[in-house]
Amino acid sequence: MASESVKVIVRCRPMNDREKALNCKTVVSVELSRCQCFIEKPGATEEPPKQFTFDGTYFTHQYTEQMYNEIAYPLVEGVTEGYNGTIFAYGQTGSGKSFTMQGVAEPPAQRGIIPRAFEHIFESIQCAENTKFLVRASYLEIYNEEIRDLLGTDTKHKLELKEHPERGVYVRDLSMHTVHSVGECERIMEQGWKNRSVGYTLMNKDSSRSHSIFTIHLEICNTDVAEEDHLRAGKLNLVDLAGSERQSKTGATGERLREATKINLSLSALGNVISALVDGRSKHIPYRDSKLTRLLQDSLGGNTRTLMVACLSPADNNYEESLSTLRYANRAK
Ligand code: ADP
Repeated sequence: MASESVKVIVRCRPMNDREKALNCKTVVSVELSRCQCFIEKPGATEEPPKQFTFDGTYFTHQYTEQMYNEIAYPLVEGVTEGYNGTIFAYGQTGSGKSFTMQGVAEPPAQRGIIPRAFEHIFESIQCAENTKFLVRASYLEIYNEEIRDLLGTDTKHKLELKEHPERGVYVRDLSMHTVHSVGECERIMEQGWKNRSVGYTLMNKDSSRSHSIFTIHLEICNTDVAEEDHLRAGKLNLVDLAGSERQSKTGATGERLREATKINLSLSALGNVISALVDGRSKHIPYRDSKLTRLLQDSLGGNTRTLMVACLSPADNNYEESLSTLRYANRAK
């Protein structure tokens, strides 16, 4: 049962100009109909390619639109019916995480999962009969295992994780913003994005070192039903993970190394939680090992749906990182 609620897919982006200029070779290939992904070790022509199977594979030429319709749509639909859902993009910096989540305006088929989810939710609201919705958004960042409100009045203030006997784990004082339209959702997300730690400390995008979670909270009131079950709540977490590259290997020291260790810690904690959920036999799900997994506890496992998109570069010079992404994703499957 558990494996039905967690889906892991792989997306391999096209070669970029830098990789082309370096004459890189393509080492990743896919067998779309079997959802298989292969990776060849550069220079090792004798060795058979390593093979992995997922819930979906998307190659260089495929659009986010197709991915959304095939895989993300049911998850977001569930949220409008009162279930929790979480979507992650995983991969090294430059592998296409933002391209997949935020996307680009042109061509329209490459608009990201996030704007599609916003539209999907507001369309469902407009079409629903005898139902009232309250839609609120929150946006937080986890940086060095510290939580900050990206939409708060003081974005530098550290927030605490608390546990409530009925409400479960929550972030104390996290601000909630009522939203009425796709446009409002987009504006609020843009505003929060600018407040991320990486935004002002590091100019280079090579440094996506924080995790951020944009959450859409839905309260659904069915005006047609008797009192007890007329209220439901669902939420959608859109998670932008820090780059998975092993930053400790890049010779980082001091503050950078401290950061790198924490990033690796939450990514491995997330991998452990997802693999325990997929396995379905583990009684103990190690949510408590990181802020990221504690925070998402009520949206991973149980009656919820999770989608992880593992993003890859096709080029031989990224072989090690791509293999490590495939292994991570495969464990999560
Ligand atoms: P990340 O968020 O993982 O650091 P990006 O999403 O910024 O990586 O992608 C790196 C670059 O590759 C960007 O210029 C992006 O436009 C491009 N890119 C990523 N995925 C695709 C794709 N599927 N098709 C075309 N271009 C892509």
